[in-house]
Parts: sequence; structure tokens; C-alpha cells
Amino acid sequence: MKALSALIAGQDVVSQDNLFQSLNPANNNDVVGTYASADKPLCRDACVAAREAFPAWSATPAPVRASVLQNFAHLIERNKAALAQLVTREMGKPIREALGDVQEAIDTCHFFVSEGRRLYGQTVPSEMPLKELFTYRRPVGVFACITAGNFPVAVPSWYFVPALLCGNTCVWKPSEDTPETSLAFYKLLMAAGIPKGVFNVVFGSGQITGAALVSLVDEGLIDKVGFTGSTEVGRQIGEICGRNLQSPCLELGGKNPLVVAEDANLEAALSGALWAAFGTAGQRCTSLGNLILHESVKSTFIKRLLEKVSELKIGDPRSQEIFYGPMISQKFLNTHIQNIETLVEKHHILLTPKNGRISSANDWGTFSGDAQNGCYAFPTIVDNVQKNDRIYKTETFGPLINVMTYSTLDEAILFANDTGYGLSSAIYTTNIETAYRFKTEIKAGMTSINNSTTGAEAHLPFGGNGKSGNGSRQSGVWVIDQFTRWQAVNWDVSGKLQLAQMETGYISPTDLILPTQK
Ligand code: NAD
Repeated sequence: MKALSALIAGQDVVSQDNLFQSLNPANNNDVVGTYASADKPLCRDACVAAREAFPAWSATPAPVRASVLQNFAHLIERNKAALAQLVTREMGKPIREALGDVQEAIDTCHFFVSEGRRLYGQTVPSEMPLKELFTYRRPVGVFACITAGNFPVAVPSWYFVPALLCGNTCVWKPSEDTPETSLAFYKLLMAAGIPKGVFNVVFGSGQITGAALVSLVDEGLIDKVGFTGSTEVGRQIGEICGRNLQSPCLELGGKNPLVVAEDANLEAALSGALWAAFGTAGQRCTSLGNLILHESVKSTFIKRLLEKVSELKIGDPRSQEIFYGPMISQKFLNTHIQNIETLVEKHHILLTPKNGRISSANDWGTFSGDAQNGCYAFPTIVDNVQKNDRIYKTETFGPLINVMTYSTLDEAILFANDTGYGLSSAIYTTNIETAYRFKTEIKAGMTSINNSTTGAEAHLPFGGNGKSGNGSRQSGVWVIDQFTRWQAVNWDVSGKLQLAQMETGYISPTDLILPTQK
């Protein structure tokens, strides 16, 4: 059997080696697609195609490039329902969230389309006469990008919409968990008018295709890498790019804190915590990790949280009623179960009655779905977590949260800051001073006041610090710095060599102005 392995210069490339299947996580009997992992020669072909397409695409006027992205937005809007249904079928997020995932791509296009008419440089005064200085944004070149499967439409759009707008050409290695959604993304982009070779895809696993693609940085075929995924893989990619003097865009994991202060609006905090903890079955980089409760509200808050958790509707993600659906795949479910087995220690208290896998023999009151064939997990809440515990500092990427208790704001901020990660964070408080201190002292790249840890918008910078990334930011005007390099131009029309600093006609002051006093 042969399966699609790559899309290079507008051509389908098939292979019979290293086949893999994408399964519907709500029903593993439903095969969404079969693909073949692209090997290194194929990844090389994709990079070469992107290099060949670069001169023409980078010379295309930015407003014209932007018009293609406007078409892309239009096509996604027209196909929004179908694309969201595919996201739900392939990665398991509830349809309401899948529609949001797709909407984020539309919003991103809308933001960057008008950026095609800006991409401003500056005119800068020179210190010499008859000389002018300018700055220009120039595209970086071939952009290779590897993405995770939890936001299979929004995250690629965060990369490729600005990268293409700025005149770069691309090679994408999407997640092996969502190849069919990635193929749909590609088809819409091609139908929007992207020329052949400007956008290429290599399908496959991280070990085969991802590693092969990144190794081509050493061959000089890639000018910029974007990576969204785990901190562990991000570190390896950072090393390869570093030795080639390249600065990649690394968007990595999180262990995000949510603090509930003594004066918080508890109902709002409960909704925010529930959504941050269990939305997308906890599989967002911005999902809640450590719930940090003031000692005076802890017992009331936990009681109400457990009531709400017991009412959570888990099951078939096609239903509008579902709070969360399956894990992205069996692999993520296995890791979640393993996390419970290995990270929960003797002094911890499991507040949730059932933990691990939901099955037909061991199910959840309000469950509606195929528990036997789906990758479903119970919500898990671990209390009495301390700062030295492994679970406090480990990203668990599933429906599992820790509870910590604090008495002073200093302590809450320390708990929020000390995991090594620094992606998102949140505080619920009605005290302005507390909110002010939190937003000033938190080390995370993103913070919410009286809102959940999750929820990005296309025009705000997205990204983290510490183990959550290397300081790169996506979205909004800030990401343009990832996909362009500043060029400084000085233009001398004096007809002679003018030496800055040495021949600049600076005017010296007359310094002895005031008479000395007797
Ligand atoms: P992962 O690192 O295992 O995989 C992510 C991507 O990298 C996949 O496409 C995978 O095939 C590829 N990959 C794996 N090993 C590779 C290697 N050795 N070389 C090159 N590529 C390789 O991550 P995951 O478990 O699929 O996704 C979850 C992680 O992604 C979590 O840590 C989550 O926080 C993170 N994430 C971060 C953001 C963000 O914007 N910060 C967004 C979404 C997900």
C-alpha cells in the first residue's frame, strides 16, 4: 500500500515505507487517514523546492502576497464547519472549541492582510549632509516548521500567515496526530493562490521526519525554524539552530498557575479554573497546572469545584453539550495514566474519586460516548502538593491539576513562579494592589487578571519564558520580527566620501558663559 508522504512544489509524493494511521480518538475503529513518514531525502527535496520558490515569492509585492492570505481567510470562512468537524474527528476537541481553533486562523489572516500594506521601514536622519538612511524589513528565507497536534489549525496559521506575508517560503512538518487536518489546511492555502513550491508539507513522525527536517539546518537549506511542542524536543532543536547561529521560534510547554486570592469573586474563579483545568482535556500549553488557593477560601472553593467537576459532561466531542472529549490519541492517554502512577506521592490527596481511563466497566455518571474504543480520561485533582514535589514542576498535559495552599501573597507568587516554566498565569482577586503586584512580579509571558490561563487573541503576543520558550513571540505585530530581518541602508548623494563621527559637523558649545563669583 502507498500513502501520501509529502506535498512538494504542488505535487503529491507517495511512499510505501513508514506508514502510519491517524485514528479518531473518540473511536479508534475510525481511521481518519493513512500516511507515510517522509525520509531525509524527501525533506531535502521540500527544502530545495522552497529555496527555488523564494526569489519570486519574496519579490512579489507584500500587498499582493497579502491578497492571497485574504483569499485564504475567505476560503476558511466558507469551509469553517467542515474543517472544524475534521479537527473534532481527528484530535478530539469538542466541536465548539474546534470552531474556535478555526476562527483563530481566520482572525490571524484578517490581522495580517492589512499588515501587507504596512511592513513599515523607517527613514532615519543622517549625521551627514546629502546622505539618507533607511531601514527595510527583508524576508528571512526558507522557514521550516514543526507543530503539535492540539491546535492543528490555529497554531500553523500563527506561523505561516505572517511567514508567507513577509515573503518567506515554507516547509511544514505537521503533527503525526493530525495529518488529515493538515492536508485540509494545505488544500485551502493552495486554492487561495499560493504559487507552487512556496508552501510544502512533509508528513511523518517526530523521530523520522521531524528529526530529518531539522538536521537540514546543518546543510544550510533552512534559514529559520519554528517549533511548537514539548520542552524536551524544543531544547534539541534549539541546540541544532544555535550551532548554526540561528535563532528559532520555540513555543514549548507550560506549568501554568492560577491563584485564587482571599477576596476573589469565587464563582468567576471557579469557572475560570474549571475551563483552564479541563478544557481540551487539559491538553493546551496554557492549561492550568497548579491551582494556588488562599487558605481562607480553600475549603469552600474545593467543595464547589468538586461539585462542578462531578457535573462535567465528558464524551463524544461532536456534541455541543460536551465539556471535554477524548485525549488526542492513545499515546497521550497512556502518558496521563503514567503521570498519575508516577507523580502522585504518599502525602498527596486525590480529591477525585476515579482517575485514569474511562471505560465501559468504569465510567463517569454523565459520560456519553464510546468509552471502550475512545481515549477518555477522568478529571484528576491532586491536593496537598508542595513546592519540592515533582508533580509541581512537571507538565502533565492532561486533565490533571495540583492544589497548593498559601497564606501570603509573596508565597503565592513564589509558587506561581518557581516551576521553571513561564508560559501563562492567572489570578482572581478584587484587590487592585494584589492584581498589580501579581502582574508585575509574575515571570510568565502571559497573565490574566480575573480570567482563565487559556485564551489567546490574534493580535496579542503569545509565548513564554524559561522552559516555555526562548523568548520568541507569536501573533500580532511582534511576530513580524521573527520572519523578517532588518536591513539598514545608507545612501550618500554628496559625490564624495563622508566619514561619520570623524567629519560630522557637530557644533561645540562655548562653555565659559557665566562669570566666576568673588
Ligand atoms: P512533541 O514535542 O512530542 O511533538 C511536537 C512536534 O514535534 C510533533 O510534530 C512531533 O512529531 C515533533 N517531534 C517529536 N520529536 C521530534 C524530534 N526529535 N525532532 C523533530 N521533531 C520532533 O509534543 P506533543 O506531545 O506532540 O505536544 C504537546 C506539547 O506541545 C506540550 O508540551 C505542549 O505544552 C506543547 N505546546 C506548546 C504550545 C505553545 O504555543 N507554547 C502550543 C501547543 C502545544
